[in-house]
Amino acid sequence: MKKTSFASVLTFGCQMNIHDSEYLKSELESLGYTLINDYIEAEAIVINTCSVREKPETKLLNILSQIKGLKKKKPKIKVIVCGCSAQNLGSKIIELYPFVDLVFGPDEIFNFKNLLLNLFTSKKESTHTSFYKDFSYMNTKVSSNILNHAYLTVMKGCNSYCSYCIVPYLRGKEISRKRLEIVEDVKQLVDKGISSITLIAQNISRYGLDINDNLINLIIDISKINRIKNLAFLTSHPKDFDLNIIKLYEDIDILSPLLHLPAQHGSNKILASMNRNYTKEYYYNIVDNLKNSKIWKNLNFTTDIIIGFPEEDDNDFKELLSLLDYAEFDNSFTFIYSPRKGTKAYELYSKKTDLSLKKVYSQRLKMYQDRQKEIALQKNKNLLDKTMELYIEQDSYKDSLKYTARTKSYKVVNFIKPKDIDLKPGSYVLAKIDKAYPTHLLATFISKV
Ligand code: SF4
Repeated sequence: MKKTSFASVLTFGCQMNIHDSEYLKSELESLGYTLINDYIEAEAIVINTCSVREKPETKLLNILSQIKGLKKKKPKIKVIVCGCSAQNLGSKIIELYPFVDLVFGPDEIFNFKNLLLNLFTSKKESTHTSFYKDFSYMNTKVSSNILNHAYLTVMKGCNSYCSYCIVPYLRGKEISRKRLEIVEDVKQLVDKGISSITLIAQNISRYGLDINDNLINLIIDISKINRIKNLAFLTSHPKDFDLNIIKLYEDIDILSPLLHLPAQHGSNKILASMNRNYTKEYYYNIVDNLKNSKIWKNLNFTTDIIIGFPEEDDNDFKELLSLLDYAEFDNSFTFIYSPRKGTKAYELYSKKTDLSLKKVYSQRLKMYQDRQKEIALQKNKNLLDKTMELYIEQDSYKDSLKYTARTKSYKVVNFIKPKDIDLKPGSYVLAKIDKAYPTHLLATFISKV
């Protein structure tokens, strides 16, 4: 392979995939590839896929259709599909798109380098979708693009089996990494100059339960490492959320005041049908505990919501809106229910799906989002005139004269680049919040930190 070969990694889906893609990118770089965003120019195209909803899977198929023409013009390019859809669709991908060279599931990622090198010696396309008990690949390999923030996987798999979700079937059973090993990884990341770390798992609230450990112990141990500025964790599950974590937010300075706690719905009927294993009253109790704590005023409290789950009626939707008003989420990641073959909900409800309700669900989605925007705006207005420490992420997509930065709780803040001061993505600044919008804030730069 020439030193100047280009590779492109397209990533769909959750933080787990973003993290996995970092590993893939670092492996590509170690093989001499230069990473580029535009896959049209690449000699190796890796598509890291998501299967949680139908849309990302359709997107994958659309991209593969485009790549088909590209491969005809440049037959030597390598096309690789990995991630959850690769696990889900397996060899069907190669049957449908014979120009795809390699398909592998999430557990095969540590084998990526070998699988890729094999492509240069064997002409045969291949599919690899085994599950493994070990996942030592989950180390600190990050690409050269990473500046000051990294995701770190602390466990894999999920045992929760929410009735709508395909992840447990694609990512296997929960396996936690040893606390000591994670702490070592954090130290290595810090040595590389990364001072902001997000620990990730499908259900991080269950971290350690399979190895007689827990998330609180892990957070406490990491907090003792010098030079970490910010530590966050994703994603918590209400049924397993330990209320003692709230105290940690108060006591541990480096812990980011960010809590992503997917409620999914506010109606007990729907929650039961989703197999979420908690009631709305249980969720309200967590909210009460948060509101009674010192961190509430600084907390970036976010959630996931599914609208239009089978048999959701007007009353259920009203209960969902009541939850939003009560919990005062800063942001909700909202989706209309997407049936996934192989899940319990699909088996139970696919025959009953009433397509005429599609419009009703879209209206409910809009109503929910409109109310969410009002609440988010109000909460962001509470930050006006405050001086905050911000971490510069990148140039603003919309305006190259501005930087996009994050607060300690990961709220997005844009500010005009100061003239004559050498600032770079990855550095920290102080800025005063001037303007609030539902999705972001505007600030004025004060000084470098
Ligand atoms: S907790 Fe539920 S929604 Fe999350 S990955 Fe597991 S099964 Fe899916």
